[in-house]
Amino acid sequence: MSLELDGVERAYGDATALRGIDLTVRDGEFFTLVGPSGCGKTTTLRCIAGLEAPDAGAVRFDGTDVSGVPPEKRNVGVVFQEYALFPTMTVRENVAYGLQFDPPEGGSVDTRVDEMLALVDLGEMGERNPDALSGGQRQRVALARALAPAPDVLLLDEPLSALDARLRDELRLELKRVQRELGVTTVYVTHDQAEALAVSDRLAVLHDGRVEQDGEPESVYESPETRFVAEFLGENNCLDGRAVGGETGGSTVHVGSEAFDVHGDYRGPVTCCVRPESLDVNATHNRFEARVTDAEFLGDAYRVHFDWNGRPLVARLNDAPTGRVTLGFDPVDAVVLERRGSDSGRDADS
Ligand code: ATP
Repeated sequence: MSLELDGVERAYGDATALRGIDLTVRDGEFFTLVGPSGCGKTTTLRCIAGLEAPDAGAVRFDGTDVSGVPPEKRNVGVVFQEYALFPTMTVRENVAYGLQFDPPEGGSVDTRVDEMLALVDLGEMGERNPDALSGGQRQRVALARALAPAPDVLLLDEPLSALDARLRDELRLELKRVQRELGVTTVYVTHDQAEALAVSDRLAVLHDGRVEQDGEPESVYESPETRFVAEFLGENNCLDGRAVGGETGGSTVHVGSEAFDVHGDYRGPVTCCVRPESLDVNATHNRFEARVTDAEFLGDAYRVHFDWNGRPLVARLNDAPTGRVTLGFDPVDAVVLERRGSDSGRDADS
């Protein structure tokens, strides 16, 4: 089942939650909506589920407008952050719940429940009550319950956010495995950019009720089109400056008193974005001096904070240097964003 949102708008009184959401989710895809709190992720999910009616625009399932179709007829399964299991029912009864309205074709409810419990690795837990399970196990039950009626679309709203970090990592792998095994089209909501990068076939970064950018995790990470995306997905050092064209397909970006070589032909106000992992003490290009202000040990590397003429910078380095250090970066590793309109007014550095 493919999904399409076309210009979806939704307001609550004066508060506009969605300002025109356009996106396509392909059949069988694990698609993530990621963005900061209040950007419209849950509202988008609720519009897909039919729990919310858009003020304008259309939601289509396999090309068909579903605006007149109530939630229970859309054949979607939903898992929310809070477990929302029935506390007085056993795990089996919880998973069987959706099947009483929609019995499995050609099989018994019991068989289907067994399959689902095996799928989420809870085969032994069927007779327990939810309060005798861990948080992670409860979310597995919620997933099994959502999947039991064989939905065309699975909607997951921050399903892992109540769990501790290790369990979250474990369960997101599990979630991905189950999704792949069933091939069910899935829309996953999270505010956690690392989770979005790790789990998605494709993702959309939402900002203020709009899709700021969508694509495969690697391509959005490596080629952000806006400063918001550059800074939201992973860390970034975004330096405002002014570009002048060069002669060999490259340009020079002036930031304060420094001049950095970058690839591509740019002129005028730009933002030069360099990832922490692209800053290197051994780099041969674009070298400049900065003062170490702090360092955090990450296990496999250090996250080192610098002050560079009053600007904070962050680098991921193998060692934790102190004092003044020379850093540099390869021109190919800088993403250059053109600044336009009011954005270019912030050009205090050039
Ligand atoms: P979070 O990550 O915090 O859950 P979100 O990205 O899911 O945020 P939404 O819950 O979709 O964001 O909310 C988008 C905007 O719409 C917010 O400004 C929110 O306050 C507003 N909003 C959402 N639901 C309602 C409602 N029922 N009544 C009024 N305003 C609402």
